[in-house]
Amino acid sequence: MTIQKLVEHQKKSFQKGDFSSLSKRKESLNTLKKLLQENEQEICSAIREDFGKPYFESYTSEIATILHEIDHHLKNLDKWAKPDQVGNSIFTFPSRNKVYKKPLGTVLIIGAWNYPVHLTFQPLVGALSAGNNAILKPSELAVQTSALIKDLVEQYFSPSILAVVEGAVDETQELLSQPFDKIFFTGSSRVGKIVMKAAAEQLIPVTLELGGKSPAIVHSDANIEIASKRIWWGKTMNAGQICVAPDFVLIHQSVKKKFVEVSQQVLSQFYNNDYITGENYTQIINYDHFERLENLIEQSEVIHGGTTNRETRFIEPTMIQADWDSVIMEEEIFGPLLPILTYKNLDEAKERLIKRNSPLALYLFTESQDVESEIIEQVPFGGGCINETISHLTNPNLPFGGVGHSGMGAYHGKYSFDCFTRLQSVLKKPIWPDPDFRYPPIDTDKLKWLKKLLK
Ligand code: NAD
Repeated sequence: MTIQKLVEHQKKSFQKGDFSSLSKRKESLNTLKKLLQENEQEICSAIREDFGKPYFESYTSEIATILHEIDHHLKNLDKWAKPDQVGNSIFTFPSRNKVYKKPLGTVLIIGAWNYPVHLTFQPLVGALSAGNNAILKPSELAVQTSALIKDLVEQYFSPSILAVVEGAVDETQELLSQPFDKIFFTGSSRVGKIVMKAAAEQLIPVTLELGGKSPAIVHSDANIEIASKRIWWGKTMNAGQICVAPDFVLIHQSVKKKFVEVSQQVLSQFYNNDYITGENYTQIINYDHFERLENLIEQSEVIHGGTTNRETRFIEPTMIQADWDSVIMEEEIFGPLLPILTYKNLDEAKERLIKRNSPLALYLFTESQDVESEIIEQVPFGGGCINETISHLTNPNLPFGGVGHSGMGAYHGKYSFDCFTRLQSVLKKPIWPDPDFRYPPIDTDKLKWLKKLLK
């Protein structure tokens, strides 16, 4: 089927309303659950073939988190989908007022390669639970996983509910020219702009889950052992190829030396300095990205690490001495390189951060409530953690999304349901009473009465 025919087919099926009842939505969610449970091995192997991600990491981040999300939706769907009975206003009295939760229709979900299953299936849970049908476009860079996703979806789902289009720029451009009812995009800010322009042509609503340079601020009063361990945990997972990985450390100058020393110990504990044969460590996705990261190392002052292996596409976790003008501070790193920048006082650090594009995440290590409040209130960022990295995105009760250049809209848990739902307001008026007051002819007495009533 061509892309155009597939979209027409899905739109027709949506209009027939075959799958938007609550029982059908739950059936689809359970089918997705079954697909993941019955194919755990195949999914983890495909991801390993694409970029050597360890089984433990694939299972936790690509399968367990989605199963958890599905269960959360199954448990709460009845409550979320129920129309809200809302109050009256003085202008509408007497009447009954309800907000209905309607599916949007046929939605397009475009994924990135770094969590190739998670980034297509996580939004899909919201799309299905809200009663939509969907087309997935997984990233072409995770070749094996993209093919497996297509194969599995075809085995488990009717194309009227869910279909997969594989491909790169041309296929995505063709998808973007179709009359979808929503586009959910995960990827770079550069492509985010292309998606939003295409969507604007047809006034299609978008959610953009983008990236950016997420800082980890380490204040002078921070527990340095914990800060180092948790920052490197967030930076080495998936070899730093995570949208919310701490991109750089911004540390108070008084504790930098200690942070560097502790970091060296932490890294040797984590990996016993074995990244190259790395059973526990992920490869860089392809040679383009490998070379991009190698170039960054060559142009930087390395404090620790810096070893690379072209054959296996492994790059050692690498600590880099940097300042705001360093080349490595220009773009999102998306790899296991961690620049360390220092600050003298918090005002200077805040000023620098506020001037930059707002990041998807921000991490702050401090024992001070005042410092915590100051950063949260004054520095814009999508979401983040205090004395922790990354974990905020695993709680379905927290909306996940960016701000400005790091994206728009949010999802996870109920926010995913809302992301694929439109609110439809309905006011129901009784036949009686029907006072003449609001009907023409209007005279000055009526206006006087109205003003009295509104006081
Ligand atoms: P990307 O923007 O290159 O690609 C994302 C998707 O867009 C892919 O499916 C690709 O086929 C498609 N695409 C690429 N070029 C296109 C074009 N010219 N026209 C239309 N479609 C095009 O991103 P990526 O390299 O796959 O992923 C890395 C980026 O994604 C990083 O910036 C990262 O921070 C971000 N990201 C964000 C999140 C999040 O949840 N916010 C999660 C993962 C990754």
